Amino acid sequence: MSTASFLLRNVTVVDGTGAEPVPGQAVVVEGRRIAWIGPDGQAPSTAPESVVDGGGRTVLPGLINCHVHLTADGAPDLFAQVAGDTVPVATLRAARSAVVTLQSGVTTVRDCGAADDIVVELAKEIARGAVPGPRVQAAGRVITMTGGHGHFIGREADGPDEVRKATRAEIKSGAAVIKVMATGGVLTPGVSPTQTALLPEELAVVAQEAHNSGRRVTTHAIGRAGIANALSAGIDSVEHGFYLDDELLDLAVDQGTFLVPTMLAVDGIIRNGLARGIPAWVVDKAEREAQQQRTSFAAAVASGMRIAAGTDAGTPFNAHGDLAQELALMVEHGLTAMQALVAATSSAAENLGMATEIGTLEVGKLADLIVVDGDPVTDITATGRVVLVVKDGVVHRDGLAGTGAAVPTA
Ligand SMILES: [Zn+2]
Repeated sequence: MSTASFLLRNVTVVDGTGAEPVPGQAVVVEGRRIAWIGPDGQAPSTAPESVVDGGGRTVLPGLINCHVHLTADGAPDLFAQVAGDTVPVATLRAARSAVVTLQSGVTTVRDCGAADDIVVELAKEIARGAVPGPRVQAAGRVITMTGGHGHFIGREADGPDEVRKATRAEIKSGAAVIKVMATGGVLTPGVSPTQTALLPEELAVVAQEAHNSGRRVTTHAIGRAGIANALSAGIDSVEHGFYLDDELLDLAVDQGTFLVPTMLAVDGIIRNGLARGIPAWVVDKAEREAQQQRTSFAAAVASGMRIAAGTDAGTPFNAHGDLAQELALMVEHGLTAMQALVAATSSAAENLGMATEIGTLEVGKLADLIVVDGDPVTDITATGRVVLVVKDGVVHRDGLAGTGAAVPTA
């Protein structure tokens, strides 16, 4: 992959740490990394053809979506889509999702489960520059009990020995993170979101094997008992988390566990419903949990539990590239816009164990950055108005060309 160097000038820097915006700044990208950040006009001299005028817009770290399913595209019935898929069709869909995601300003995703090794392999192809897409931390197949949530994209395993083997098998297949199911879920027939799934001793084995291999482990957990089981097992992050209460939140805060709320997932089902072809058993489950999700999210915000942004893109009417809508929902339900930006940048990077490389605008970090129209600190929807996307120092979207500035491309 070719790399380039350029100066992005005349921008307000929102660095992803939660620090106040700094207007009148410039950023120098050299190769894959950020080489310099400082006041506009004091930047090291650069060839004029590699100067990009940001027009006073805001530069942010590339956004991070901690929960997507690249092989799915928001069809009304996810279970039926996967059941009808062939590997080539699902692979093409994943490649398309990756392009849409990157163009939206999301430069890193965690894929929380896909059949076969599709996303593990796609992640490698993106990393070597063969196809465009965000950096992908892929979970591969989920680890689930027999008949449990997501079994159609998972390895079914029961008892500590089988669960240990399933976790090791995913690591062998190339999973960069382990995803395990602690409760039932909305999109799998025959299970309830509030029932427990793998037992505490099984979850502990998954966490032990993941951590032993240097990987982080996240869990799908909706009901209270399953969340409690996951926290006691030492899981690093909780997806959805609809039944957090004071006792669980105390434990989560103590352990530094992340919550990935995925508010858009329930929203997509409820807003579209039976009329758009979502199965009745899915709509029923989502409607039963919607209020509890909001209550739980508000409690998590108040508790100080660490929150990382994720959409669950690929679930019904939950399209790839819509992270800005999730951030808007999080603001609607209690985060400040700055907290939502942190949830999608530095906190998300920590949740993925990648904070030394991405998640903030800092000299020496990978040059993942976006420029947006408007002020995202006062209007979070500005994150949906992306005009420039740079990943690994390579420009993937150039909406600033109209300013007359030249932008080097890969
Ligand atoms: Zn999911």
